[in-house]
Amino acid sequence: MTFYAQLDSLNDEVVLGDLGMIYVFVCFDCLEVTALLQTA
Ligand SMILES: [Zn+2]
Repeated sequence: MTFYAQLDSLNDEVVLGDLGMIYVFVCFDCLEVTALLQTA
């Protein structure tokens, strides 16, 4: 799996947990995507 993207809270209406972050990993062989939500 390769680290692909890091997303923080989109705006005040869409808050990911408590200042959460989403880390997205992609396998470029089979195009599998895994997202990990981490909250502060
Ligand atoms: Zn794979």
